[in-house]
Amino acid sequence: MTDVNLSAILYKKLDLRLEERPIPEPAKGEVQLCMQKVGICGSDVHYWQHGRIGDRFIVTGPMLLGHECSAVVTKVGEGVSHLKVGDRVAIEPHGVCRTCEQCKSGRYNLCPNVFFLATPPDSGALARYHVHGADFVFKLPDNVSFEEGALIEPLSVGLHACRRARLAMGHRVLVCGAGPIGLCAMLSAKAFGASAVCVTDIDPKRLEFAKEVGATHTVLIERGSSEEEVAKKVAETLGGAPDRTIECSGAQFSVNLGVFATKPGGVFTIVGHGPNKVEFPVVSLVAKEIEIVGSFRYINTWQTAIDMISCGKINVAPLVTHRYTLEETMQAFEMSKSGQGVKVMIDCAKK
Ligand code: NAD
Ligand code: ZN
Repeated sequence: MTDVNLSAILYKKLDLRLEERPIPEPAKGEVQLCMQKVGICGSDVHYWQHGRIGDRFIVTGPMLLGHECSAVVTKVGEGVSHLKVGDRVAIEPHGVCRTCEQCKSGRYNLCPNVFFLATPPDSGALARYHVHGADFVFKLPDNVSFEEGALIEPLSVGLHACRRARLAMGHRVLVCGAGPIGLCAMLSAKAFGASAVCVTDIDPKRLEFAKEVGATHTVLIERGSSEEEVAKKVAETLGGAPDRTIECSGAQFSVNLGVFATKPGGVFTIVGHGPNKVEFPVVSLVAKEIEIVGSFRYINTWQTAIDMISCGKINVAPLVTHRYTLEETMQAFEMSKSGQGVKVMIDCAKK
């Protein structure tokens, strides 16, 4: 019996369906993958709930969701030499043009012709089978699980943010937001040699979880407190003002806090997408010569992440709080939407 390709397809806002699609065949330079674990990202839930993210990414036709993935190679297209059938792999969601100025300079995350899984109009990989450009498919060592392989995507956001921040040994670090991205930034900062990492959130349960998975300090953002007050508390907690701040909450409050909290001459890296326009305490920013740096997705982080997980220096596994099968996709999305867990993982393998 031929296998069918059960796929999680978003038709439009609030219209997510599980449907059978043909199994795709790999073209030259591609591999066919039997999907194993796919994590649900906040963006997947956002497209499902709102049909768009801002004015730039709008769901206009059916598209698969899912971009945090691991898989097993089932077919190898012409010209692919570094992978073979049966390899366990992690997938970087990119596909880029390789010819533009950004690609040639190595900053392929900024390629204007980028393909990115589950970002309209590009389809995702939450299905039984998927084909992908082999140059963005990475072999997993035996001691890295499929769940860890899928978590390399959010971890990569954290690693890239730390690289953008020029984070170094001994830095005190503030991470705003204890969602999956903030936690991955915290784990990355520790791996880069941070001496202390303080994570903030408005949700005490998320801070408890952050402590469990490795945050050295936490500060709860309480209603009515000012950014200046919290900045003081962060400095007291860390034993000094943070050398680096990484914003992963998308909150206007955190953007202001980052400027007030970061040590003069320090770097404030912004990862979170909040409202398109936010206010800045510009006098403080200028007088402290704070460097503000944007951080978008990642470049060349997969092999680093695989090696750091494999050697035990980064432990992402505890971030998974809920597990579902591909057939239970709707329940998985409801759980992710509820915000009760941290990372919801879908098992795409046929049972
Ligand atoms: P999430 O919603 O799970 O986590 C955000 C956390 O911030 C939540 O725990 C929330 O309680 C907390 N929060 C809200 N207001 C806060 C405040 N005032 N202070 C501190 N914490 C506050 O989201 P996530 O999946 O972890 O993603 C975090 C952000 O990163 C989002 O804005 C997302 O769009 C963005 N993101 C950016 C990139 C990139 O490449 N730049 C990639 C992925 C995600
Ligand atoms: Zn390009």
